[in-house]
Amino acid sequence: MELMVDLHVNSERQGPGSEEETLKALSMMHIPEGKKLKIADIGCGSGSQTFSLARHSRGDIIAVDLFPSFLKKLDEKAADLGFTDKITSLEASMDKLPFEKESFDIIWSEGAIYNIGFETGIRQWRNFLKPGGYLAVSEITWISRNRPVEIEDFWTSEYPEIGMASEKIRILEDNGYTLSGYFYLKPESWIENYYKPLEKGFAAYLERNKHSQEAKKIMEMHREEIALYQKFKDYYSYGFYIARRD
Ligand code: SAH
Repeated sequence: MELMVDLHVNSERQGPGSEEETLKALSMMHIPEGKKLKIADIGCGSGSQTFSLARHSRGDIIAVDLFPSFLKKLDEKAADLGFTDKITSLEASMDKLPFEKESFDIIWSEGAIYNIGFETGIRQWRNFLKPGGYLAVSEITWISRNRPVEIEDFWTSEYPEIGMASEKIRILEDNGYTLSGYFYLKPESWIENYYKPLEKGFAAYLERNKHSQEAKKIMEMHREEIALYQKFKDYYSYGFYIARRD
């Protein structure tokens, strides 16, 4: 895990996404103008989306991650950008959140819910949302029903919960949410914003870790994932789901 964190910690973001898409998701929520919000950003990493949210909302954000190195980066950036009053970081696991029931207007999570699984996550987190509050979550999603075996096998073994958007929406609806909207992340958000910066850091990462077998193995895993994305990007993306707690 330490090596995984080390590989990602210097990147702007730790998963696919973009400011434009964060704001698109935010725009799908019906929030009264000027309302002060309490937002939780779960699996925030070094906070790329946290800062987009901070710039475009009123109120407070609690940014949660399991790994202190990401939170340290986030705190440094919050200090640089003058957001220390607005953003508070919290080291906690997303399945053991120390939150009060019905205390948040928005629960946000980009590229992270897979760590506990979509269904478990959306069920548990619902408790922390005020009635009428919103969930915004991105989740790996099949775009097409007709998939080449190679990519089907890869993702089914990596993340058995991968499904079509219709299945994800159904899970939300079965668990006390109403869909406000959804969309797929565009390929640039994977390639330009996530994979290219990651690849740029490979050499320095190997240096830092003295070219150990373990470090190389983790880098190779990422290389494989990138190659598969290049080849099969028409078949999957992150779906971004925005839903209101009933
Ligand atoms: N939202 C960020 C990071 C996505 S990567 C972005 O889009 O750039 C997934 C994040 O989930 C990582 O920062 C990782 O440290 C965090 N994570 C993994 N397991 C977790 C857990 N059990 N609880 C909280 N965060 C976790």
